[in-house]
This record gives sequence, C-alpha cells and structure tokens, in this order.
Amino acid sequence: MNDKPIDILLLGGTSDARQVAHFLAVSFPELRSVISFAGIVQDLPDLPLERRVGGFGGVDGLRDFLARYRVRLIIDATHPFAAQMSWNATEAAASLSVPLVRLERSAWTAQEGDRWQPAANLEDACRFLESGTRAFLAIGRKEIERFYHRKDIFALARMIEAPPSPLPEGWHLELSRPAKTVDEEIELLRGHQIAIIVCKNSGGQRSYAKLEAARLLEIPVIMIERPDLPSVPTFKTPDGLIQTITQLVQAS
Ligand code: NAP
Repeated sequence: MNDKPIDILLLGGTSDARQVAHFLAVSFPELRSVISFAGIVQDLPDLPLERRVGGFGGVDGLRDFLARYRVRLIIDATHPFAAQMSWNATEAAASLSVPLVRLERSAWTAQEGDRWQPAANLEDACRFLESGTRAFLAIGRKEIERFYHRKDIFALARMIEAPPSPLPEGWHLELSRPAKTVDEEIELLRGHQIAIIVCKNSGGQRSYAKLEAARLLEIPVIMIERPDLPSVPTFKTPDGLIQTITQLVQAS
C-alpha cells in the first residue's frame, strides 16, 4: 500500500460491505477508500476498490494504521458475529476522534411455523444437540472445530473453504456457499436426513433459504444469537448509510 492518506476505511466481510464498496468507487472516485478483509477465506470478491487483507494487530495496531494513513472515516460493515473487530474499531476510532459508523443488517426473526431454539453462543448450541442426532452445522469454518468432540452425532458441515483440520470420521463436508434456492436446501436436508440445524443469526437474504427449508420440513433450528456490539451510529441498510457518507464527505 502506498503511504498516501486514506479517506475512508471500510471494514468488510458482508455482501452489504461489497455494495458500499461499489458505491464508494462510483460516487467518490476522487477519495482514497480502502476495503479491509480479515482473510478468513482466500476467495475474496473482485471489487473496484483498493483492498488490504489480514488483521491490524488489535486495537494498538489499528490505531497505528489510522494514524499512519490519517483515516477520516471508518465504516464498520463487518459480519454481525465479528464482534472483536467492531470493538477494536470503536476503541481505536474513539482514541483518535475518527468518525465511525456501522452497517448492521437486521437479525432474522422467527416466522409462523419456525421451530427455533435460541442459543447464547456456540457452546450452548453444541450442548443442545442430542446424542445420535443428524445435524446440519451451518456455522462456517472458523469455529467448526468446537463441535469436533461430538463424535456421538452425525454432522453435515457447510463452508466455503476447507476447515482448519479434517472433520470427525463419518461427518460430511459440503464445500460450498449457502444454496440460493429453498428447493436446493430441501434436497440437501433430505439427502442427509437432517433432524436439526445449527446456525448463527446472521440476517440477510444470502443464507436465509435454509431457514425456509427448515420451516417447510418442520426441522428445528438452534439459532445462535448475536454477540453484543458497541453502541455507535448504526444503519440497517446500505441506502441509509450512503446518505450519511455523502453528508460526512461533503461537510469535511
Ligand atoms: P472477529 O472475532 O471480530 O475478528 C478477529 C480478528 O480478525 C480481529 O481482531 C482482526 O484482527 C481480524 N479481522 C476481523 N475482521 C477484519 C477486517 N474486516 N479487516 C481486518 N481484520 C479483521 O471476527 P472473525 O474472527 O473474522 O469472525 C468471527 C465470526 O464472524 C466467524 O466465525 C463467522 O461466523 C463470522 N463471519 C466473519 C466474517 C469476516 O469477514 N470477518 C465473514 C463472515 C462471517 P486484529 O485484531 O489483528 O486486527
């Protein structure tokens, strides 16, 4: 990265972040905007924005980064479960008085026919699984190993890239993004005779089809609730945020 100042640091990790990236590239080409990814997956989206990949090195590392590049605005558009990054960004931004806004899509709420059981975290979700069950673990790759001790269940684990270590014997690895249609999800659930689903309340449309499929098949879902996030100006959709960015940029 060159040493020129960065106007906007966009913390990515969601499809909404990608939408904001496109907006920044098209609407403010004169600004230097940089999107930052954690680098959990290698397959990063192709975006018309400068990007950097990997952690900053905690709050101190991020503070150094903000100071070095004289960042004028931070947009936290990380995944709702990427709480550490959000807390770090809030602390680093506050220490240097850099404005920070967050884009956080609404959580899913249960509809008629849904059989959801809330879980406070992954450990609770893991405990709720009965011995001998056939579970669909739709929790991504990073934390899948926290279920590996449950050798008394069958699990179908779906993730975009291979897990850090092999799944327990007898489990099935589905290397793919969430299916786009309910029919595909029904086929997957039926194919593996899934009796229960574990997922995080990520919100958004991209991974919602599995929940519609679960409703239709009357399969219970252990829904892991979102972690606490810092209190900062928050927008539920890119549209609201885009208006604010425009105002902030024009005012400065
Ligand atoms: P996290 O626990 O908040 O972040 C852990 C560390 O990763 C951060 O402290 C930071 O490292 C680095 N990091 C996270 N987001 C970053 C970004 N946008 N740019 C640069 N560095 C970043 O979050 P996580 O471990 O990434 O993810 C936690 C859970 O969130 C996952 O298991 C998954 O369920 C969900 N999730 C996350 C993403 C994502 O892109 N992060 C996408 C989809 C789902 P330093 O402290 O070194 O700065």
